[in-house]
Amino acid sequence: MEHGTLICLAGMILATVAPNVRAHSAAPAIAAPSVAVLLARAEGAKSNDQDRYRSILVQLHERSASLSVAQRWHLRLLDAQQLSFDGNYGKADPLLYDIVAHSGDQALSIRAMARLVQNKFNSHHYVDAYTLANTLMAELPKVADPTARLEGMDRVIIMLNGAAVGQYELALQYAREMKATLPSAAAQCIAEMGETNSLLYEGKLLSTNPRFRQAIDTCLAAKHPLSADALRLNQASAMIDEGRAKRAIAFLHRIAPAIRKNRYPPYLASLQVTLAQAYLSLGDAANARKFALTTTAMSGANSTLWILQAAYEVLYKAEKMSGHAAAALAYYEKYVALDKAAVDHAKARALAYQMVKQQVQSKKLKLDALDKQNRILQLRHALAVQSQKASRLYIALLLVVIAFIAMAMFWLRRSQLRFRKMARYDGLTGVFNREHFFEEAGHALRRLHRAKAGACLVILDLDHFKRVNDSYGHVAGDVVLRQTVAVCLRELRKSDMFGRLGGEEFGILMPVASREQGVEIASRIRCALAAEPMVVKAGITITVSASFGVAWSADSGRSLRDLLIDADAALYRAKDGGRNQVAVDTRADLLPEDPEDAQLTCNA
Ligand code: GH3
Ligand code: MG
Ligand code: MG
Repeated sequence: MEHGTLICLAGMILATVAPNVRAHSAAPAIAAPSVAVLLARAEGAKSNDQDRYRSILVQLHERSASLSVAQRWHLRLLDAQQLSFDGNYGKADPLLYDIVAHSGDQALSIRAMARLVQNKFNSHHYVDAYTLANTLMAELPKVADPTARLEGMDRVIIMLNGAAVGQYELALQYAREMKATLPSAAAQCIAEMGETNSLLYEGKLLSTNPRFRQAIDTCLAAKHPLSADALRLNQASAMIDEGRAKRAIAFLHRIAPAIRKNRYPPYLASLQVTLAQAYLSLGDAANARKFALTTTAMSGANSTLWILQAAYEVLYKAEKMSGHAAAALAYYEKYVALDKAAVDHAKARALAYQMVKQQVQSKKLKLDALDKQNRILQLRHALAVQSQKASRLYIALLLVVIAFIAMAMFWLRRSQLRFRKMARYDGLTGVFNREHFFEEAGHALRRLHRAKAGACLVILDLDHFKRVNDSYGHVAGDVVLRQTVAVCLRELRKSDMFGRLGGEEFGILMPVASREQGVEIASRIRCALAAEPMVVKAGITITVSASFGVAWSADSGRSLRDLLIDADAALYRAKDGGRNQVAVDTRADLLPEDPEDAQLTCNA
């Protein structure tokens, strides 16, 4: 028997293997079994009881309204498997693709994919079959569900053991992995069979190897009689290949009852043709012809190609052996036609496998390239993020520094302003100090000179201020000083300049004012001050008075110095005149006739 024959046989065997799913609890005798129980029962019946399987599916469809979404997808898989058994791939495959794409259930998707691989192979869509098988191999490591793993690995092992692929080593690995990781009896049977076939096809197994016995026993224990039959038929073929035709015939007759009992048509035909081959190799043309004719007679329209081909090969060789040239030629023509078809299929498979292999490799290369590109992008991104972080930090630092500088500048400016204020203003009363008053008054006078305008300078000095200090203390004196300033400011115009010249002495520059206006304002302040009650201590209210000296630029000259001298002189005269009065500079003739008058003007 040639190599391809063995493979086809293995494919047929495995097509019938069912997952080890069973209902864990039997339903009560009266109550109808639950949907879950029915689904489990269908899984159990799938491989060994087609009639029961079909009737369970009918029951499930009758109760389709009560199925959950997940149960509906499961039923769809069972339907697709049923359609696949019947060879209705046109209806089965769309259902299977739908499960793969939309069920959202990993286990069901893997099982559907495994079934699709088989259907595509059976319908000679080899490119699809190998492409799907590749996907399946990639997905399998992620699958935990034992049934899905079993069906997926089963399919992968068959594909790898296929003639066009010949990846026996890899198939062996899968089989051994399956044996180690899936403890169910069904999985053990499939694994043992995969392992045995891989070794056999690779030429590493003789028909006498006890491994055959072990694999057959495992499958029988797993209640997979068809798998056991397939193994036995493979073992018989190996015997013939090894030149042990007699032994093969004895063996085939011994296993025949079991094969007949299982009633699987391809195996029934396979039994006959293998017997024919064995007799032919013994030179028994009559028996060879007899079993070959039985084979062709039992092979219907759906018989496997290799069985028919093998049968016609035996027939033409047997006729030739018997010297029936015409009959031999007739069979030979049939044999050649079948052989051509077989070769064509084998070629198509080999080509498809190579194509998919190439596609997978180029896809892998592309993925590698993409991966590298992606890594570069990631690196670039990381760098960008890093530098962004660094520049953000830098900006933050810069902002802190700027804020710090701004704050420092603010404090500096504030203290500068404070110092400047301290340098310009009197600490006790808040008005211009002596130096600043002189400076500002000098500027103002120069400006007024340019504008050909005059001004009045008034100096006032509190009368007997020493007494206030002496009687009520310095703090009370300070209160009086501040209150005096308040009264003066109240009476002055916006344009007037006011400053503390020292102690209890103050200066007023009145731009553009005439001597009369100066005297008038001074008198007004004098009266206001004299009338101002000042609370110097709790419960003690006093009043104070001041003396005023007035100088006018038209009389005294435009320099501050001259004005000061004259105003001072006038002040001296006011003090001398009895205090609490306004006096004008000596050069003027506008002196009050009587100092008493000067004091009395307030009341007027
Ligand atoms: P007169 O009428 O002649 O001007 O008499 P007077 O007492 O006002 O004049 P005198 O110059 O003798 O006294 C001025 C006093 O003012 C002396 C000083 O102790 C007091 N004095 C100067 N500066 C301050 C100050 O800032 N606060 C207080 N409380 N007293 C001051
Ligand atoms: Mg005084
Ligand atoms: Mg004084």
